[in-house]
Amino acid sequence: MTSLIECAWLILGLIHFGAPLTYYYYLSRKLSEKPWDIEINKNKLHLPEITVVVPTYNEETLIEKRLDNIYEQDYPKDKLKIIVIDSASNDQTVELARRWAERHKDIKLKIVEEPVRRGKPRALNKILPIIDTDILVVTDADSLWFKDSLKKAVNFLANPDIGVVSGIKTPMTPRGDSPTKEIEETYRTFYNKIRVYESKIHSTPIIAGELFAVKKDILTNVGGFDLINDDSYTAMKIVSKGYRAIVSDDVKIIELAPVTMKSYRKWKITRAQHLIHNFVSLIKCIRRYPSQVRKIITIEAFFHLLNPWILLSATVLFMISMIGLSLISLLTILVLTSLLLHPKTGSLLKTWITEQLLLISAAIKNLRTKSEVWEKIEEVRTTVLTSQRSV
Ligand code: GDP
Ligand code: MN
Repeated sequence: MTSLIECAWLILGLIHFGAPLTYYYYLSRKLSEKPWDIEINKNKLHLPEITVVVPTYNEETLIEKRLDNIYEQDYPKDKLKIIVIDSASNDQTVELARRWAERHKDIKLKIVEEPVRRGKPRALNKILPIIDTDILVVTDADSLWFKDSLKKAVNFLANPDIGVVSGIKTPMTPRGDSPTKEIEETYRTFYNKIRVYESKIHSTPIIAGELFAVKKDILTNVGGFDLINDDSYTAMKIVSKGYRAIVSDDVKIIELAPVTMKSYRKWKITRAQHLIHNFVSLIKCIRRYPSQVRKIITIEAFFHLLNPWILLSATVLFMISMIGLSLISLLTILVLTSLLLHPKTGSLLKTWITEQLLLISAAIKNLRTKSEVWEKIEEVRTTVLTSQRSV
């Protein structure tokens, strides 16, 4: 009996850790040096007229910085329009945006106000009809772009096969160490690479809302933004129509991240809830996708929906088998402890386990709630005031 339990947790543990490691190393070996198969002209950039859309709800601490950062983009100002779509903020957001527009008359800025807050996706869908450029780029108030991010993202859209473009994210936390900084940075290092590798194959099923560049007619054809998952699932609806949704490592995004574990947990659980929704929906309509994308969806759905539960089951079985104190369980404890104590593997393991626990909490939470309007994490908004990073 004990040996059966031992066998079970060993196999589950190997699957849990082995599957993502194999995927990561397989993609790295095959794709890290491989150039993009997308024809784009690097010498002569494609710089069409575009609209940058900033959805806001109570963003008075960030709105001016966000607009400044868009204004400072290396993109011709006469081809750049900005729309701020605000949903009933009860702070100074709209007033500050208006004053910003008065100070920057060389760029077109339109402010649209919704009388009630119904969530970011509905706000975005509302302004779709008034956008008069072929390309729109959505960005969150709590993010910043590198100077060349916008033009590099838009340039990819010159290719007729590409429907959506996004970039890789780096978290911005205040100077000094915080537990969330280490976890989020380690997480991003791996996740960013995987997003790019998947994009090189065809498309990635996880796209960032902090820079979401899309062709308007294609977006309109799929019915606009998805009401629960406005970034990843919307992009995947576009992929189901035969286009590609890509994340490029040339397009860099900085995202403000919470500092305390409590806010971090909340922030990540909401995101994990959205990812779970994304993969459950994708699995249901997987037949619509080309075969390379089907493989990516299946693997990522396994990582997000099942793999955390495999770790949980392996841990429970391990604990039960510990009662017998066999050689193999002692050995496992020894290996895990030394991995945890080593700075590099320790940080990786801590990050990994945190992510798994967040996915489990999110799955449980998803059974109870599915919200189109999510709670804003205020702490992210104050981070900017204490950080000094320049882009
Ligand atoms: P998170 O990063 O996924 O936690 O989401 P955020 O709270 O940062 O929201 C993303 C962006 O959408 C921010 O710019 C918010 O101000 C904006 N936002 C959130 N809710 C609403 C809403 O109901 N209406 C509008 N117009 N914008 C919203
Ligand atoms: Mn955010």
